[in-house]
Amino acid sequence: MGESLGIKKRGDMGYFYGPVPSRRLGFSLGVDLMSEKTCSFSCIYCQLGFSKKRTTRRFECVNLNSFKHEFKEILKHKKHIDYVTISGSGEPTLHKNLDKIISAIKTISHNKYQVCVITNSSLLYRRQVRQELKQADLIIPSLDSAVPATFRKINRPCKSIQFEKVLTGLTALRKEFKGKIWLEVMLLKGINDSLREAQAMQKAVNLIKPDRIHLNLPVRPPAKKVLSPSKKNIERFRKVVGDTASVPFNRGKNIELKRFDPNLAEQILSYIARRPATVKDLASVFGCGVKKIENFLLLLLHNCRIREIIRGKKKHYILNDKRKR
Ligand code: SF4
Repeated sequence: MGESLGIKKRGDMGYFYGPVPSRRLGFSLGVDLMSEKTCSFSCIYCQLGFSKKRTTRRFECVNLNSFKHEFKEILKHKKHIDYVTISGSGEPTLHKNLDKIISAIKTISHNKYQVCVITNSSLLYRRQVRQELKQADLIIPSLDSAVPATFRKINRPCKSIQFEKVLTGLTALRKEFKGKIWLEVMLLKGINDSLREAQAMQKAVNLIKPDRIHLNLPVRPPAKKVLSPSKKNIERFRKVVGDTASVPFNRGKNIELKRFDPNLAEQILSYIARRPATVKDLASVFGCGVKKIENFLLLLLHNCRIREIIRGKKKHYILNDKRKR
C-alpha cells in the first residue's frame, strides 16, 4: 500500500529527505549519511534517544555512486532548495571523506546550492576533519556549555572528548574556515541557563568568534525530560553572550504547501524518520491544516508505516521501523 501512495522505501532513496522548511535555512534538503543513529555524544536532549554506543572512530557509511544518483534524481524534479544540509541520524563528521560528499553536491548542482554541515563539534580538533569541511558554505557547530562539568552532563561525550578539545577544535575551525559559522547552544532549564553559564559561554564565544549564535530550546521529545528556561533567563543569557546571539524564528511556519513536493505522505515519512512529531508539529512544518495532516497520518497508520507513542503526555508519530540500506 505504501507503494500505491508513491512512498519510496528508505532503501530506494535513502540519503536525502525533504526539502523541509527550516527555522534558519529556508528550504533545506536534508542529507542523512547514517542508516542508524551513530554519534560521539549521547545528549540528554537528543530527539533520537540515547546513543546505544558512542564512538569517535570514523568510517565510510555512504555508497558515493548511489548518493550521486539519488541527488541527480532529486534535482530532476526541480524542487525549491536553499541549502543542502548534512546532518541526520548522528554526527556527520564520523563519516570518513566528508569532502567527497560535499564535492559531489557542489559538482552535480553546479554550485547552485549552499552546503551546510551541522556538527556536534566533537571531532573538529582533528585537522583532517576541518580539512574535509573546507568546501562547505556554512557550518553549524554546537556548544551547549563552556563549563566542563555541564558540558559532560548535557552531551555525555565519549571519554576521549573533553571540553578543552572541543574548544580547541572550534577556535581552529574559525581560523581556517572561510565560510559562515553559526554556533548553536541548546538552552536547558536549571542546567545551563544560569548567569555563570552565560558568562562562561561569552568567554568561549570571544575565542570562537562565530558569525551568529543561535540559542535553541528543546521542543521535540528528547532522550530525557528537559525543559526550556524561562523567558527571563533566555533573555539574560542572550544579553550576556552578546549581539550575535538570537533565538531563531520559524521561517518555514507559514510556507505554503504548494511549494513542496505534492506527495505529502512521503514528506511526512521523511520528516518523522528523523524526529518524532505531533500533528501540530507536522501542520506547522508543512504549512497546512491539522485536519489534512490527520488524514494522512490515519492512512499511514492504517498501512502500518507509522505508529503512535506518548512522550511528554503528547501523542507523537514515529516510523514503524527503520529500514536498513
Ligand atoms: S543531539 Fe546530536 S550530538 Fe547529541 S546525541 Fe543526538 S545526534 Fe548526537
